[in-house]
Amino acid sequence: MSRILIAEDEPRISSFIEKGLRASGLATTVVASGVQALAMARSGEFDLMILDIGLPELDGFTVLHALRSGSVDLPVLILTARDGIDDTVAGLRGGADDYMSKPFRFDELLARVQRRLRTPSQTVGANVLTHNGISLDLHTRRLHCDGNATDLTAREFTLVQMFLTHPGQVLSREQILSHVWGYDYEPGSNIVETYIRYLRRKLGPDRIETVRGMGYRLRD
Ligand code: CA
Repeated sequence: MSRILIAEDEPRISSFIEKGLRASGLATTVVASGVQALAMARSGEFDLMILDIGLPELDGFTVLHALRSGSVDLPVLILTARDGIDDTVAGLRGGADDYMSKPFRFDELLARVQRRLRTPSQTVGANVLTHNGISLDLHTRRLHCDGNATDLTAREFTLVQMFLTHPGQVLSREQILSHVWGYDYEPGSNIVETYIRYLRRKLGPDRIETVRGMGYRLRD
């Protein structure tokens, strides 16, 4: 049975997560401070940690940084307040595997936990999307572009995957928002533009074309 460490200081939220995960057949342990989270995460007894950013004693970013700099590769799913998205993007670059902003739906949290828990032996066959010098491995979630391998954050991965499954097609900002961010975005935010910029850094400046007034297209 997989063991999930829940580091969350709001009892209402930790018990909501704990009840749901237990009902889904997972073992859980709750801690409510950053110091406890770090100690438990280092114990090697867990398969994944759900880590709140706003924790007493040590915040979630500090915990994550301490783990990664000590070569602890426990998968970490960050929970963050909605207004902390920019910080969270920084956190993902700092070694988190995924994140969700509060409030969240339990079924989405569970799907993300299960995706991270899946072992390589349960995945079947090669699963690589390729287009014009770009390839995306759907298992390792790594991007290869002109022979160079790059790691992607969770959102970048979903966005690249969306482009690679619709080559040459214009994707509107709204289509991208609803596919990549779901309910989880502020209307009117410039998050799509920001991520397109990140991807252009990783894919090269010319691969994703802006189609004025319509959206973005992966060039053929
Ligand atoms: Ca908190």
